[in-house]
Amino acid sequence: MNILIVDDDSTYRRLLATILKAKHHEVAEAADGLAAWDLLQHDQYPFVISDWMMPGLNGLELVQHIRAANFSNYTYIILLTARNTRADIVGGLESGADDYLTKPFDLDELRARVAIGERILDLETRLRHTMEQLQILATYDSLTGLLNRRALYEAINNECSRARRGDTPISLIMLDIDHFKMINDQHGHLTGDQALCHVTHTILQYKRSYDLVGRWGGEEFLMALPGADLPEAGSVAERLRTELNANPLPIAEGKLLHIHASFGVATLNTAENSSLDHSIQQVDRALYRAKNNGRDQVCFYTEES
Ligand SMILES: [Mg+2]
Repeated sequence: MNILIVDDDSTYRRLLATILKAKHHEVAEAADGLAAWDLLQHDQYPFVISDWMMPGLNGLELVQHIRAANFSNYTYIILLTARNTRADIVGGLESGADDYLTKPFDLDELRARVAIGERILDLETRLRHTMEQLQILATYDSLTGLLNRRALYEAINNECSRARRGDTPISLIMLDIDHFKMINDQHGHLTGDQALCHVTHTILQYKRSYDLVGRWGGEEFLMALPGADLPEAGSVAERLRTELNANPLPIAEGKLLHIHASFGVATLNTAENSSLDHSIQQVDRALYRAKNNGRDQVCFYTEES
């Protein structure tokens, strides 16, 4: 553990450093609150043990600075103080310190209090890790690694707002793998999963870095192309369709699985301030037409259609 010791009394600093180093902690020292605050700007100290009474920035103010800074990782703070009235102790804890020790302190008690802090920091690290994992699960589709429906909708919606402000076009492509149920039925769900990954790989190969793509439903993908008008988005869709046809998926026993898809293309009408939901309906209708017209083709949404 990286521990910062803050005390204007060098005797106390040395004593604390000796005890903590004996417990294999890494120790940094600051002679007052300002020096400590300066160190905290440049390095991460998950653990701070600070004296209260110091010239310049005192211990209470240092605690308040740390809490207000809202560092990304929690800082566990023990306040050392010769002040031991109930009001002092309450004031110290209310300022944001996690614990306090009255000077002169018992060495065993100090070691025990540091161990408590370590346990709390360890719990905090594990909690943060779990939250990050949950965030990933809530954002990405586990099979394809693409954005899931909810995260994709949010990302496209932000992109639409930007397009409206800048009065630039933004187009949507919705694609749906043809006869996907048949792939699953004839070759099994594992091959079905491979087909989904194959289509994902093809899309990722041809999308521009700023295009958004996600898994919209079972075998349905949605893309948003900022800056692209209807014909431009149409040629991207046509290219994807051609690529899928040209590159069948190798499956068991040297066989090749031909995967086709149908595509709907629509453009968000930024001038009329139309909503994303409206555009999704339109691209869905275009996709429906591609399916009805015999699949493996690109259909556009136009006002007349
Ligand atoms: Mg002091």
